[in-house]
Amino acid sequence: MLIDGKEVPSLSGKTFPSIDPSTGKTLADVYEAGVEDVALAVGAAQKAFESTWRSTLPRDRSKKLMKLAELLSAKVEMMSWLECYDAGKPITASRAWLAGGPGTLEYYAGCLLTLSGETLEVSDRTLMDFTLREPLGVCGLIVPWNFPLSIALLKMAPAVAAGNCVVIKPSEVTPLSTVELGALVAEAGFPPGVVNIVNGPGDPVGAALVRDPRVAKISFTGGTVSGKRIFREAADTVKRLTLELGGKSASLVFADADVDKAVNVAFTDIVRNSGQVCGACTRVLLEEPIADAFIAKLEAKLRAVKLGMPESTETEMGPMVSSDQAAKVRGYVEIGKAEGATPRAYVDLAGRADLASDAFLPPMLFHGATNAMRVAREEIFGPALTVIRFRTEEEAVAITNDTRYGLAACVFTRDAGRAMRLVRSVSAGTVCVNTGVRSSVDAPFGGFRESGIGKERGKEALLDDTQLKNVRYGL
Ligand code: NAD
Repeated sequence: MLIDGKEVPSLSGKTFPSIDPSTGKTLADVYEAGVEDVALAVGAAQKAFESTWRSTLPRDRSKKLMKLAELLSAKVEMMSWLECYDAGKPITASRAWLAGGPGTLEYYAGCLLTLSGETLEVSDRTLMDFTLREPLGVCGLIVPWNFPLSIALLKMAPAVAAGNCVVIKPSEVTPLSTVELGALVAEAGFPPGVVNIVNGPGDPVGAALVRDPRVAKISFTGGTVSGKRIFREAADTVKRLTLELGGKSASLVFADADVDKAVNVAFTDIVRNSGQVCGACTRVLLEEPIADAFIAKLEAKLRAVKLGMPESTETEMGPMVSSDQAAKVRGYVEIGKAEGATPRAYVDLAGRADLASDAFLPPMLFHGATNAMRVAREEIFGPALTVIRFRTEEEAVAITNDTRYGLAACVFTRDAGRAMRLVRSVSAGTVCVNTGVRSSVDAPFGGFRESGIGKERGKEALLDDTQLKNVRYGL
């Protein structure tokens, strides 16, 4: 762990194993924090905030982030291998994702230089009125396992850029790349306590951060159930919140669309990271005339996917992050069948002796589904998508918006007027036209309804990590 600028064991000396899902073997034993370690980390962050970081010049905060970006660039290859083994990511995919890590730090190193308040023309000539944008204090950053280092950086960079000090809690399932980040933070020369890292399970470690009255904000990415619990517990101390929760996003494919492009996006959505992607369009809505052709093409591609061990550069799809997650997805195969949907392209892996654990799953599409079925309503978070047919634009919109989630949507059509109508009528935080959901650090991302609160990425994430003070100056 990283507490007050030092790499330290937990006070109890207790550890937990980090498992390679492709073999089931332990990769490393990681120190497990208790509530006392969390209290030390929060105390160190608060001390650093009050004594140095809140008053550090923007230019100097920017330089520290740029230094960390430079150090991280030199370690991207090593970090990619850590996540390959720790999270089961195919090495080529792991490299591609982590190559963006330094860019996240660089973006906010630049963005923070634009932070400013404004002068207001209030209707009282005896006052000069202006606003100041100030940091919040200590931020607790709770990270999931699907993109461990990338999401940790997307939370840390804006928070630290805005002048906050942070305590990062990686997922207990994938802690290793964030442990290595701690070593780089120490080397980059941040004042001790600006960035702290504690490891361990959601409860008690994450929960201790949520309860600590010294923590001003929690930024959480994870499941909707955990997110709702955090929302409730954060109410006691009225914390600021950014919540990035689940999704059941839809891809609307019209008969006039470039069908091959839409097929490729659907394929990528469930193969990339074994479908463990919150913004993946896991409901594919097909206009009747092209539905059969689309399904045939997608099924053929899914059957041919190169499923294999993550360290091979040939592998397109590795294991799920854990045997537990794979078992959860297998459960949905049974749920789907019981509801009357058919899992297609769900090839039998029994003969694949090269796949060394039960965390491997083939990709699948549920055929013959309706939007009322659980496989169309619940987030499966695996390599499964549900195909639903529609006849009219109105019907497609109604199905798309008939969900408690609202993270993202894709529209495939060559009719520009229809595309713009749908951009307005689809209720989701990100709408993509004729392209898949591809988020980047410089554009805001965050869900409507139960998909979350606030935005990650873009300037909005930086603003969400500040608070506005109004100053009324008597003349
Ligand atoms: P999870 O909710 O189980 O855990 C996420 C993190 O929260 C982990 O670090 C965990 O230890 C911690 N945690 C769990 N319970 C907690 C509690 N009560 N208090 C404090 N911390 C707690 O989620 P997961 O299984 O790691 O991740 C998968 C989920 O994340 C999926 O449902 C997915 O949709 C969601 N996700 C959303 C986005 C997004 O941007 N919307 C991005 C990635 C993942």
